[in-house]
Amino acid sequence: MPLQFKRSWSDADLEALRDSAARFIEAEMVPDDEASRKRGHVGHAIWRHAGELGFLCADIPEEYGGAGGDFRHEAVFYEEMARRGLSGMATSVHSIVAHYLLNHGTDAQKKRYLPKLARGELVGAIAMTEPGAGSDLQGVRTRAERRGDQYILNGSKTFITNGFLAGLVLVVCKTDPTQGARGTSIAIVETKDCVGFRVGRVLDKMGMKAQDTSELFFDEVAVPAENLLGGKEGQGFFQLMGDLPYERLIIGVQAQACVEGAYEATLQYVRDRQAFGQPIANFQNTKFTLAEVATQLTVGRAFIDRCVEQIVVGQLDTATASMAKLWGSEMQGRVLDQLLQLWGGYGYMNEYMIARMYADARVQRIYGGTSEIMKEVISRSL
Ligand SMILES: Cc1cc2nc3c(=O)[nH]c(=O)nc-3n(C[C@H](O)[C@H](O)[C@H](O)COP(=O)(O)OP(=O)(O)OC[C@H]3O[C@@H](n4cnc5c(N)ncnc54)[C@H](O)[C@@H]3O)c2cc1C
Repeated sequence: MPLQFKRSWSDADLEALRDSAARFIEAEMVPDDEASRKRGHVGHAIWRHAGELGFLCADIPEEYGGAGGDFRHEAVFYEEMARRGLSGMATSVHSIVAHYLLNHGTDAQKKRYLPKLARGELVGAIAMTEPGAGSDLQGVRTRAERRGDQYILNGSKTFITNGFLAGLVLVVCKTDPTQGARGTSIAIVETKDCVGFRVGRVLDKMGMKAQDTSELFFDEVAVPAENLLGGKEGQGFFQLMGDLPYERLIIGVQAQACVEGAYEATLQYVRDRQAFGQPIANFQNTKFTLAEVATQLTVGRAFIDRCVEQIVVGQLDTATASMAKLWGSEMQGRVLDQLLQLWGGYGYMNEYMIARMYADARVQRIYGGTSEIMKEVISRSL
Protein backbone atom coordinates (compact mmCIF):
# COMPACT_ATOMS: atom_id res chain seq x y z
CA MET A 1 0.00 0.00 0.00
CA PRO A 2 1.51 3.41 -0.92
CA LEU A 3 2.56 5.47 2.07
CA GLN A 4 -0.20 8.05 1.73
CA PHE A 5 -2.94 5.43 2.18
CA LYS A 6 -1.78 4.10 5.54
CA ARG A 7 -4.50 4.59 8.10
CA SER A 8 -3.49 6.19 11.37
CA TRP A 9 -6.16 4.21 13.22
CA SER A 10 -5.31 0.75 11.97
CA ASP A 11 -3.36 -1.98 13.74
CA ALA A 12 -2.38 -5.63 13.16
CA ASP A 13 -5.80 -6.97 14.21
CA LEU A 14 -7.65 -4.57 11.95
CA GLU A 15 -5.35 -5.42 9.03
CA ALA A 16 -6.07 -9.12 9.64
CA LEU A 17 -9.79 -8.28 9.55
CA ARG A 18 -9.16 -6.32 6.34
CA ASP A 19 -7.50 -9.36 4.76
CA SER A 20 -10.40 -11.64 5.60
CA ALA A 21 -12.96 -9.03 4.47
CA ALA A 22 -11.06 -8.63 1.19
CA ARG A 23 -11.01 -12.41 0.66
CA PHE A 24 -14.75 -12.64 1.30
CA ILE A 25 -15.49 -9.74 -1.03
CA GLU A 26 -13.28 -11.13 -3.81
CA ALA A 27 -14.74 -14.61 -3.51
CA GLU A 28 -18.41 -13.82 -2.93
CA MET A 29 -19.21 -10.33 -4.13
CA VAL A 30 -16.99 -9.54 -7.08
CA PRO A 31 -18.07 -12.59 -9.15
CA ASP A 32 -21.77 -11.83 -8.57
CA ASP A 33 -21.62 -8.07 -9.14
CA GLU A 34 -22.58 -8.09 -12.80
CA ALA A 35 -25.59 -10.36 -12.16
CA SER A 36 -26.59 -8.22 -9.15
CA ARG A 37 -26.41 -5.10 -11.28
CA LYS A 38 -28.77 -6.68 -13.81
CA ARG A 39 -31.14 -7.89 -11.07
CA GLY A 40 -31.09 -4.59 -9.20
CA HIS A 41 -30.24 -6.21 -5.87
CA VAL A 42 -27.71 -8.58 -4.31
CA GLY A 43 -30.21 -11.09 -2.92
CA HIS A 44 -30.53 -12.40 0.64
CA ALA A 45 -27.92 -15.17 0.57
CA ILE A 46 -24.92 -12.83 0.63
CA TRP A 47 -26.36 -10.99 3.64
CA ARG A 48 -26.70 -14.23 5.58
CA HIS A 49 -23.26 -15.36 4.56
CA ALA A 50 -21.69 -12.04 5.61
CA GLY A 51 -23.59 -12.35 8.90
CA GLU A 52 -22.34 -15.88 9.53
CA LEU A 53 -18.77 -14.67 9.07
CA GLY A 54 -19.23 -11.75 11.47
CA PHE A 55 -18.94 -8.94 8.91
CA LEU A 56 -22.29 -7.36 9.80
CA CYS A 57 -22.83 -5.14 12.86
CA ALA A 58 -19.11 -5.24 13.61
CA ASP A 59 -19.47 -2.34 16.06
CA ILE A 60 -22.50 -3.68 17.94
CA PRO A 61 -21.78 -5.17 21.40
CA GLU A 62 -21.47 -8.95 21.59
CA GLU A 63 -24.37 -9.17 24.05
CA TYR A 64 -26.63 -8.15 21.16
CA GLY A 65 -25.02 -10.50 18.67
CA GLY A 66 -22.56 -8.02 17.14
CA ALA A 67 -18.81 -8.43 16.87
CA GLY A 68 -18.08 -6.02 19.73
CA GLY A 69 -15.77 -3.78 17.73
CA ASP A 70 -15.98 -0.06 17.01
CA PHE A 71 -16.28 2.22 13.99
CA ARG A 72 -12.87 1.11 12.68
CA HIS A 73 -14.11 -2.47 12.28
CA GLU A 74 -17.05 -1.20 10.26
CA ALA A 75 -14.82 1.10 8.21
CA VAL A 76 -12.60 -1.78 7.10
CA PHE A 77 -15.54 -3.51 5.38
CA TYR A 78 -16.84 -0.30 3.76
CA GLU A 79 -13.38 0.52 2.47
CA GLU A 80 -12.74 -2.89 0.96
CA MET A 81 -16.04 -2.74 -0.93
CA ALA A 82 -15.64 0.88 -1.99
CA ARG A 83 -12.10 0.48 -3.33
CA ARG A 84 -13.40 -2.31 -5.61
CA GLY A 85 -16.31 -0.19 -6.82
CA LEU A 86 -18.88 -2.43 -5.14
CA SER A 87 -22.01 -0.63 -3.96
CA GLY A 88 -24.66 -3.37 -4.09
CA MET A 89 -24.65 -4.44 -0.49
CA ALA A 90 -25.60 -1.39 1.57
CA THR A 91 -24.12 -2.59 4.84
CA SER A 92 -23.82 1.08 5.75
CA VAL A 93 -27.59 1.57 5.90
CA HIS A 94 -27.90 -1.78 7.69
CA SER A 95 -25.41 -0.57 10.34
CA ILE A 96 -27.19 2.77 10.64
CA VAL A 97 -30.41 0.89 11.43
CA ALA A 98 -28.56 -1.21 14.01
CA HIS A 99 -27.21 1.98 15.57
CA TYR A 100 -30.64 3.56 15.89
CA LEU A 101 -31.73 0.46 17.75
CA LEU A 102 -28.60 0.34 19.90
CA ASN A 103 -28.65 4.05 20.79
CA HIS A 104 -32.37 4.65 21.13
CA GLY A 105 -34.16 1.29 21.32
CA THR A 106 -35.65 -0.24 24.44
CA ASP A 107 -33.85 -3.25 25.83
CA ALA A 108 -36.55 -5.53 24.37
CA GLN A 109 -36.13 -3.91 20.92
CA LYS A 110 -32.36 -4.37 21.04
CA LYS A 111 -32.64 -8.00 22.11
CA ARG A 112 -35.25 -8.80 19.51
CA TYR A 113 -33.70 -7.15 16.46
CA LEU A 114 -29.97 -6.66 16.80
CA PRO A 115 -28.99 -10.36 16.76
CA LYS A 116 -31.10 -10.90 13.64
CA LEU A 117 -29.48 -7.92 11.92
CA ALA A 118 -26.03 -9.17 12.91
CA ARG A 119 -26.77 -12.61 11.47
CA GLY A 120 -28.08 -11.09 8.25
CA GLU A 121 -31.45 -12.77 8.82
CA LEU A 122 -33.04 -9.35 8.62
CA VAL A 123 -31.78 -6.68 6.23
CA GLY A 124 -32.28 -3.19 7.63
CA ALA A 125 -33.63 -0.05 5.93
CA ILE A 126 -34.43 3.44 7.15
CA ALA A 127 -37.35 5.17 5.49
CA MET A 128 -37.30 8.93 5.92
CA THR A 129 -37.74 10.35 2.44
CA GLU A 130 -41.19 10.79 0.88
CA PRO A 131 -42.24 12.08 -2.52
CA GLY A 132 -42.94 15.45 -0.85
CA ALA A 133 -40.22 15.51 1.83
CA GLY A 134 -36.49 14.97 1.35
CA SER A 135 -34.12 17.58 2.73
CA ASP A 136 -36.96 19.05 4.77
CA LEU A 137 -37.86 16.07 6.92
CA GLN A 138 -40.26 18.13 8.99
CA GLY A 139 -42.55 17.77 5.99
CA VAL A 140 -42.95 14.01 6.48
CA ARG A 141 -46.61 13.05 6.12
CA THR A 142 -46.63 9.34 6.85
CA ARG A 143 -48.99 9.07 9.76
CA ALA A 144 -48.90 6.70 12.73
CA GLU A 145 -52.20 6.91 14.54
CA ARG A 146 -52.64 5.31 17.92
CA ARG A 147 -55.56 2.89 18.07
CA GLY A 148 -55.66 0.78 21.23
CA ASP A 149 -52.38 -1.05 21.63
CA GLN A 150 -51.34 -0.45 18.03
CA TYR A 151 -50.23 2.31 15.72
CA ILE A 152 -51.85 2.36 12.29
CA LEU A 153 -49.42 3.48 9.64
CA ASN A 154 -50.46 5.19 6.40
CA GLY A 155 -48.20 6.84 3.86
CA SER A 156 -45.50 6.27 1.29
CA LYS A 157 -41.73 6.49 1.14
CA THR A 158 -39.37 6.73 -1.79
CA PHE A 159 -35.67 6.22 -2.60
CA ILE A 160 -35.31 3.70 0.21
CA THR A 161 -31.99 1.85 0.14
CA ASN A 162 -32.36 -1.90 0.87
CA GLY A 163 -36.12 -1.31 0.49
CA PHE A 164 -36.65 -4.41 -1.65
CA LEU A 165 -34.65 -6.80 0.56
CA ALA A 166 -35.43 -5.27 3.94
CA GLY A 167 -37.02 -7.41 6.64
CA LEU A 168 -36.88 -4.51 9.09
CA VAL A 169 -37.74 -0.94 8.19
CA LEU A 170 -37.44 2.04 10.52
CA VAL A 171 -40.21 4.31 9.34
CA VAL A 172 -40.08 8.01 10.15
CA CYS A 173 -43.67 9.06 10.77
CA LYS A 174 -45.88 11.62 12.43
CA THR A 175 -47.53 10.53 15.65
CA ASP A 176 -48.83 14.08 16.15
CA PRO A 177 -49.17 16.12 12.94
CA THR A 178 -49.94 19.28 14.92
CA GLN A 179 -46.42 19.30 16.38
CA GLY A 180 -43.41 19.80 14.08
CA ALA A 181 -40.29 17.93 15.14
CA ARG A 182 -41.91 16.96 18.43
CA GLY A 183 -44.68 15.12 16.60
CA THR A 184 -42.23 12.85 14.78
CA SER A 185 -41.51 9.25 15.78
CA ILE A 186 -39.80 6.21 14.29
CA ALA A 187 -41.84 3.02 13.92
CA ILE A 188 -40.12 -0.35 13.68
CA VAL A 189 -41.84 -2.38 10.96
CA GLU A 190 -41.18 -6.05 10.29
CA THR A 191 -42.03 -6.54 6.65
CA LYS A 192 -42.57 -10.32 6.54
CA ASP A 193 -46.27 -11.13 6.25
CA CYS A 194 -47.02 -7.50 7.06
CA VAL A 195 -50.56 -6.75 5.92
CA GLY A 196 -50.85 -3.41 4.08
CA PHE A 197 -47.12 -3.07 3.44
CA ARG A 198 -46.01 -3.08 -0.17
CA VAL A 199 -42.69 -2.59 -1.91
CA GLY A 200 -43.15 -0.62 -5.12
CA ARG A 201 -40.69 -0.44 -7.96
CA VAL A 202 -37.01 -1.16 -7.56
CA LEU A 203 -36.03 2.21 -8.97
CA ASP A 204 -33.89 2.50 -12.11
CA LYS A 205 -30.90 4.65 -11.11
CA MET A 206 -28.03 6.13 -13.11
CA GLY A 207 -25.53 4.27 -10.90
CA MET A 208 -25.42 1.92 -7.91
CA LYS A 209 -27.21 -0.57 -10.10
CA ALA A 210 -26.74 -3.52 -7.74
CA GLN A 211 -28.13 -1.62 -4.75
CA ASP A 212 -31.89 -1.92 -4.33
CA THR A 213 -33.59 1.42 -3.94
CA SER A 214 -37.36 1.22 -3.69
CA GLU A 215 -40.65 2.87 -3.01
CA LEU A 216 -42.49 1.62 0.08
CA PHE A 217 -46.21 1.89 0.70
CA PHE A 218 -48.05 1.62 4.02
CA ASP A 219 -51.81 1.17 3.87
CA GLU A 220 -53.40 0.73 7.30
CA VAL A 221 -50.36 -1.17 8.53
CA ALA A 222 -50.82 -2.23 12.17
CA VAL A 223 -47.67 -1.87 14.25
CA PRO A 224 -47.65 -2.99 17.92
CA ALA A 225 -47.43 0.07 20.20
CA GLU A 226 -44.21 -1.26 21.72
CA ASN A 227 -42.59 -0.95 18.28
CA LEU A 228 -42.08 2.77 18.48
CA LEU A 229 -38.31 3.22 18.65
CA GLY A 230 -37.46 3.90 22.28
CA GLY A 231 -41.06 3.23 23.30
CA LYS A 232 -42.02 6.92 23.47
CA GLU A 233 -43.77 9.23 21.01
CA GLY A 234 -42.19 12.40 19.68
CA GLN A 235 -38.55 11.29 19.91
CA GLY A 236 -37.99 10.63 16.19
CA PHE A 237 -36.38 13.88 15.19
CA PHE A 238 -33.96 13.89 18.10
CA GLN A 239 -33.08 10.25 17.45
CA LEU A 240 -32.34 11.12 13.80
CA MET A 241 -30.21 14.13 14.73
CA GLY A 242 -28.18 12.20 17.28
CA ASP A 243 -26.96 9.63 14.78
CA LEU A 244 -26.00 12.01 11.99
CA PRO A 245 -22.21 12.05 12.63
CA TYR A 246 -22.11 8.25 12.25
CA GLU A 247 -24.00 8.28 8.94
CA ARG A 248 -22.08 11.16 7.46
CA LEU A 249 -18.68 9.82 8.34
CA ILE A 250 -19.51 6.51 6.65
CA ILE A 251 -20.09 8.40 3.39
CA GLY A 252 -16.78 10.25 3.82
CA VAL A 253 -14.94 6.98 4.49
CA GLN A 254 -16.48 5.33 1.43
CA ALA A 255 -15.66 8.31 -0.79
CA GLN A 256 -12.00 8.32 0.21
CA ALA A 257 -11.59 4.55 -0.21
CA CYS A 258 -13.37 4.54 -3.56
CA VAL A 259 -11.02 7.16 -4.99
CA GLU A 260 -7.99 5.36 -3.57
CA GLY A 261 -9.09 2.22 -5.42
CA ALA A 262 -9.69 4.22 -8.61
CA TYR A 263 -6.29 5.88 -8.32
CA GLU A 264 -4.47 2.55 -7.97
CA ALA A 265 -6.33 1.05 -10.94
CA THR A 266 -5.59 4.16 -13.01
CA LEU A 267 -1.89 4.12 -12.11
CA GLN A 268 -1.70 0.58 -13.49
CA TYR A 269 -3.74 1.44 -16.57
CA VAL A 270 -1.65 4.43 -17.65
CA ARG A 271 1.52 2.35 -17.32
CA ASP A 272 0.08 -0.37 -19.58
CA ARG A 273 -1.75 1.74 -22.16
CA GLN A 274 0.36 2.93 -25.09
CA ALA A 275 -0.14 6.00 -27.31
CA PHE A 276 2.34 7.64 -29.66
CA GLY A 277 4.80 4.81 -29.03
CA GLN A 278 4.95 5.14 -25.26
CA PRO A 279 2.90 4.50 -22.12
CA ILE A 280 0.41 7.32 -21.53
CA ALA A 281 1.94 7.51 -18.03
CA ASN A 282 4.87 9.32 -19.66
CA PHE A 283 2.85 12.36 -20.74
CA GLN A 284 3.24 15.35 -18.50
CA ASN A 285 -0.54 15.78 -18.33
CA THR A 286 -0.93 12.25 -16.97
CA LYS A 287 1.81 12.75 -14.41
CA PHE A 288 0.39 16.08 -13.27
CA THR A 289 -3.15 14.70 -12.99
CA LEU A 290 -1.94 11.78 -10.90
CA ALA A 291 0.21 14.05 -8.77
CA GLU A 292 -2.83 16.23 -8.06
CA VAL A 293 -4.96 13.20 -7.26
CA ALA A 294 -2.32 11.70 -4.97
CA THR A 295 -2.14 15.03 -3.15
CA GLN A 296 -5.93 15.20 -2.73
CA LEU A 297 -5.96 11.66 -1.41
CA THR A 298 -3.14 12.27 1.03
CA VAL A 299 -4.88 15.34 2.43
CA GLY A 300 -8.23 13.52 2.49
CA ARG A 301 -6.76 10.51 4.28
CA ALA A 302 -5.39 12.71 7.06
CA PHE A 303 -8.80 14.36 7.61
CA ILE A 304 -10.88 11.20 7.36
CA ASP A 305 -8.52 9.36 9.69
CA ARG A 306 -8.85 12.13 12.24
CA CYS A 307 -12.63 11.89 12.04
CA VAL A 308 -12.43 8.11 12.51
CA GLU A 309 -10.24 8.56 15.58
CA GLN A 310 -12.69 11.12 16.95
CA ILE A 311 -15.78 8.97 16.45
CA VAL A 312 -14.11 6.01 18.14
CA VAL A 313 -13.70 8.10 21.31
CA GLY A 314 -17.17 9.64 20.94
CA GLN A 315 -15.95 13.11 20.02
CA LEU A 316 -16.99 13.61 16.41
CA ASP A 317 -19.37 16.56 16.25
CA THR A 318 -22.07 16.97 13.63
CA ALA A 319 -20.38 19.87 11.83
CA THR A 320 -17.06 18.04 11.39
CA ALA A 321 -18.87 14.88 10.26
CA SER A 322 -20.78 17.02 7.76
CA MET A 323 -17.45 18.34 6.49
CA ALA A 324 -16.26 14.75 6.00
CA LYS A 325 -19.39 14.01 3.98
CA LEU A 326 -19.25 17.27 2.03
CA TRP A 327 -15.54 17.24 1.28
CA GLY A 328 -15.34 13.49 0.70
CA SER A 329 -18.25 13.29 -1.72
CA GLU A 330 -17.31 16.45 -3.62
CA MET A 331 -13.69 15.29 -3.90
CA GLN A 332 -14.92 11.89 -5.08
CA GLY A 333 -16.94 13.39 -7.93
CA ARG A 334 -14.19 15.79 -8.97
CA VAL A 335 -11.30 13.33 -8.80
CA LEU A 336 -13.09 10.38 -10.41
CA ASP A 337 -13.84 12.69 -13.32
CA GLN A 338 -10.13 13.52 -13.65
CA LEU A 339 -9.13 9.86 -13.41
CA LEU A 340 -11.77 8.66 -15.86
CA GLN A 341 -10.35 11.01 -18.48
CA LEU A 342 -7.09 9.07 -18.41
CA TRP A 343 -8.92 5.92 -19.49
CA GLY A 344 -10.15 7.51 -22.72
CA GLY A 345 -13.14 5.71 -24.27
CA TYR A 346 -12.66 2.69 -22.02
CA GLY A 347 -13.47 4.93 -19.08
CA TYR A 348 -16.98 5.36 -20.46
CA MET A 349 -17.66 1.63 -20.69
CA ASN A 350 -19.57 0.03 -17.83
CA GLU A 351 -17.40 -3.05 -17.96
CA TYR A 352 -14.60 -0.93 -16.49
CA MET A 353 -14.65 -0.22 -12.78
CA ILE A 354 -13.83 3.46 -13.27
CA ALA A 355 -17.04 4.00 -15.27
CA ARG A 356 -19.17 2.30 -12.61
CA MET A 357 -17.47 4.26 -9.84
CA TYR A 358 -18.09 7.52 -11.68
CA ALA A 359 -21.82 6.82 -12.05
CA ASP A 360 -22.14 5.53 -8.49
CA ALA A 361 -20.37 8.57 -7.04
CA ARG A 362 -22.93 11.11 -8.18
CA VAL A 363 -25.42 10.25 -5.50
CA GLN A 364 -22.90 10.63 -2.70
CA ARG A 365 -23.51 14.39 -2.93
CA ILE A 366 -27.26 13.87 -2.67
CA TYR A 367 -28.21 11.15 -0.18
CA GLY A 368 -27.48 11.29 3.54
CA GLY A 369 -28.17 15.04 3.24
CA THR A 370 -27.22 16.99 0.12
CA SER A 371 -24.03 19.05 -0.16
CA GLU A 372 -26.16 22.17 0.27
CA ILE A 373 -27.65 20.85 3.50
CA MET A 374 -24.12 19.96 4.71
CA LYS A 375 -23.12 23.59 4.14
CA GLU A 376 -26.19 24.75 6.08
CA VAL A 377 -25.27 22.51 9.00
CA ILE A 378 -21.60 23.56 8.96
CA SER A 379 -22.45 27.24 8.70
CA ARG A 380 -24.62 27.00 11.81
CA SER A 381 -21.57 25.93 13.82
CA LEU A 382 -19.36 28.82 12.72
C1 LIG B 1 -29.79 6.27 -4.42
C2 LIG B 1 -30.50 6.94 -3.28
C3 LIG B 1 -30.61 6.28 -2.06
C4 LIG B 1 -31.29 6.88 -1.01
N1 LIG B 1 -31.48 6.17 0.15
C5 LIG B 1 -32.32 6.69 1.10
C6 LIG B 1 -32.69 5.90 2.24
O1 LIG B 1 -32.19 4.77 2.43
N2 LIG B 1 -33.57 6.42 3.11
C7 LIG B 1 -34.13 7.66 2.94
O2 LIG B 1 -34.93 8.04 3.76
N3 LIG B 1 -33.79 8.43 1.88
C8 LIG B 1 -32.92 7.97 0.95
N4 LIG B 1 -32.60 8.72 -0.14
C9 LIG B 1 -33.18 10.04 -0.28
C10 LIG B 1 -32.17 11.17 -0.08
O3 LIG B 1 -31.76 11.25 1.25
C11 LIG B 1 -32.82 12.46 -0.60
O4 LIG B 1 -32.93 12.33 -2.00
C12 LIG B 1 -32.05 13.70 -0.22
O5 LIG B 1 -32.07 13.92 1.16
C13 LIG B 1 -32.58 14.95 -0.93
O6 LIG B 1 -33.95 15.05 -0.83
P1 LIG B 1 -34.83 15.29 -2.15
O7 LIG B 1 -34.43 14.27 -3.15
O8 LIG B 1 -36.26 15.37 -1.77
O9 LIG B 1 -34.34 16.69 -2.71
P2 LIG B 1 -34.88 18.13 -2.24
O10 LIG B 1 -34.91 18.21 -0.77
O11 LIG B 1 -36.12 18.44 -2.99
O12 LIG B 1 -33.71 19.06 -2.77
C14 LIG B 1 -33.62 19.52 -4.13
C15 LIG B 1 -32.47 20.52 -4.21
O13 LIG B 1 -32.76 21.64 -3.34
C16 LIG B 1 -31.67 21.82 -2.47
N5 LIG B 1 -32.14 22.31 -1.17
C17 LIG B 1 -33.12 21.82 -0.38
N6 LIG B 1 -33.21 22.52 0.76
C18 LIG B 1 -32.25 23.48 0.69
C19 LIG B 1 -31.83 24.53 1.56
N7 LIG B 1 -32.39 24.72 2.77
N8 LIG B 1 -30.83 25.34 1.15
C20 LIG B 1 -30.22 25.15 -0.05
N9 LIG B 1 -30.58 24.18 -0.90
C21 LIG B 1 -31.57 23.35 -0.54
C22 LIG B 1 -31.03 20.45 -2.32
O14 LIG B 1 -29.70 20.55 -1.85
C23 LIG B 1 -31.14 19.93 -3.73
O15 LIG B 1 -30.08 20.45 -4.49
C24 LIG B 1 -31.86 8.17 -1.17
C25 LIG B 1 -31.70 8.85 -2.39
C26 LIG B 1 -31.05 8.25 -3.44
C27 LIG B 1 -30.95 8.98 -4.74
